[in-house]
Order: sequence, then structure tokens, then C-alpha cells
Amino acid sequence: MRATCWHGKKDMRVDRVPDPKILNRRDAIVRVTSTAICGSDLHLYNGFVPTLKRGDILGHEFMGEVVEVGPDVNNLAIGDRVVVPFPIACGNCGPCNAGAFSLCENSNPNAWMAEKLMGHSPSGMFGYTHMMGGFAGGQAEYVRVPFADVGPLKVPEGMPDDQVLFLSDILPTGYMGAEMCGIEGGETIAVWGCGPVGLFAIASAKLLGAERIVAIDRFPARFAKALQAGATDTINYEDENVYDTLMAMTGGIGPDACIDAVGTESHTPGPLYAVDRVKQALMIESDRPFALRQAIRCCRNGGTISVVGVYGGLIDMFPMGSFMNRSLTMRAGQCHVHCYMRPLLERIQRGEIDPSFVISHHMTLDEAARGYGMFNDKEDSCTKIVLTP
Ligand SMILES: [Zn+2]
Ligand SMILES: [Zn+2]
Repeated sequence: MRATCWHGKKDMRVDRVPDPKILNRRDAIVRVTSTAICGSDLHLYNGFVPTLKRGDILGHEFMGEVVEVGPDVNNLAIGDRVVVPFPIACGNCGPCNAGAFSLCENSNPNAWMAEKLMGHSPSGMFGYTHMMGGFAGGQAEYVRVPFADVGPLKVPEGMPDDQVLFLSDILPTGYMGAEMCGIEGGETIAVWGCGPVGLFAIASAKLLGAERIVAIDRFPARFAKALQAGATDTINYEDENVYDTLMAMTGGIGPDACIDAVGTESHTPGPLYAVDRVKQALMIESDRPFALRQAIRCCRNGGTISVVGVYGGLIDMFPMGSFMNRSLTMRAGQCHVHCYMRPLLERIQRGEIDPSFVISHHMTLDEAARGYGMFNDKEDSCTKIVLTP
């Protein structure tokens, strides 16, 4: 089959590789009909996440048709159309029973690697380094789906791929980012980063009842989509002082909650950017946390910081004084996608949200390498690429 393989920093290739096979009784094989490149794939593309190997197949956002099932998968049949959550989860362990599927204790065979870096391991994930299990990803013609009796969600007939594909990651991730803000109605929510996850965080904050939603980014095309998603205000951090603008908007109080939908590769104007770039190059810190620092500084006293942007390792200059003295709360996590898929599918069916608005480009799988470069450099106002094998 053809698959999108990582060959080194900024070197993606569509290679011929062996077809996946059923290895365990609860596996299924899915023939991919649509797959997407995620912002977090760019962290791999840019070489910021350790334990990738040459030839690894990337991709954790995919859907398709079941073509083979293991003997213990009783809820799926050949021919079923499914969308697959990016965390791999057993469905039986303590975290799975508590709904914390991205913390499954049984799905990462390389948990020891993650334990070395982070103390404990999250679940296995498709196409996201050996530290996360070394599972082949979905930017390919076929994928092996472990614990296929737990993760994949059957897609009702008549719903096009573009409408349901993002249930695999970015729609639930954005929704969880908004949910972690504890929105009850009437709040001001500021969202750093208007990539697809930020856009879905904005749309979700609106669904949950936020009154004012401020989108912070620097690309005009993303602001257009943010307004379409439900943002009430935008701040271009290259033109305006984000803190001053947010204070002016909120009578000096600050937003009730701040969502970091940027993660490890954030940008900032001014000298601090150079300092963090150098530290990152020298491996003194692995992540550049400008958005996070700014979110903490801007958040109102007693407010919440919700982190759904992906971080890999260590950050410097965490504003602990601001965080502690002002009684802030930070919530974070890889999304527990399994919990959100069905309720969000129902919201799509009811017409409350149409996730396809984030898509800017469709390409064939063979064009994946070009797609990575385009998405990374935001060429042609690229916000989200869907690949068709
Ligand atoms: Zn993703
Ligand atoms: Zn589990």
C-alpha cells in the first residue's frame, strides 16, 4: 500500500510499504477514505518530538471502511463506515472506565519511554512516535486499528466524510478545550491560536454559551474563519498588545478563561522569541510557551487556563507567581475523544455545527509531502488539508 512516511526533519515521502495485518483478536483493518494533516503532525514534521524513526507512517485523523475484523470484534462488520479516535484505548482499565481514554493503561507498549520523560505514560496513539506506541498512522491506504471494539464510531448513511472526519481528533479536542473552561453562560473566553483546534474551541465555546469570544492569531484567513466559527472579536498579536487589548475589552478584569490552542511552536514579536528559539536549538528547553505565558498573564483572577495545544517536554519561565497569587486553575490533556464522538456526531446531525468549514484544501494522498510543506508555511491561506488515498 501507499503511506505517508517521515524520513527526517521536513522530509515526508509517500512510500510503498507492506499492507497492515490483523495482529490481535480485537484488531480491525480499515481502508482509509479520508485522512487529514493535523497541526500536531507539524511538530513531528519539524522534528520537535523525540522517538520518531525513519519510515514511520504518520496520521492520526482518519476514517474509512472496515475490510477485516479480528475474531473478538463483535460490534463491527466488514463494510461498516467508521471514524476512528486518535487515542488507542482498551475500554477495560481504570482510566478507560472513568472516561479518560487518552490515559488508557493498556494501549501503549512503549510506556517505559514516556515514563522516562514524563513520569507516567498516556495511551498509545496512531502515528505519533514510538514513545506513544509506535503505531502506524492513518495517512495511508489501510490502517490496523487495535481495540477496534472500543474506538471506531459507525457513521450514519448520508453524512459525507468531510462532515465527520474531524470527530477523530480536532473537533472533540477543541470542544474539550472549551468544556475545560467551565462555561455556564455569559463568559468572556480568549482563544490563542486559530488553527483548526482553536476554531473548534471557538465554535464550542459559543455552543456552550460564552458571550464574548476573542480570537488571537496573526493570519487574516484564520480570522475570517474564527469569525465564521463564532468569535466576537479578533486580536492580531503582531499589530496589537494582546494584554492591553484584552484589558480594554473586559474593563481591566481579563477573560474568564483562556484557551491555549497553540502549543509548543508558538511565535511572538520581540526579543523573547529569539531567546526561546536559541534555548530550543540548544535543547535547554524543548517547547516555546509564549501563548501559554501570555494566557496566564491575561486571565482574570481566579480564572481558568485550558491547554489543548500540544507540548512535548519542558518550558522555561513559567509565570508561577502570577499563577499562584491569582488563584488560577490550569486544565490540560490529550482529548478523551471516545467520550465526545457520539454527542458531537449528534450535534452535527442536528445542524448545530458543520465541521467542514475548517477545510481549505483537498489533495490526494500522493500529494501529502507537498501538503505538509504548504500547511507548515500557511501557503495559499492553508488552514486544513484533507487527503484522499
Ligand atoms: Zn490531530
Ligand atoms: Zn484502557
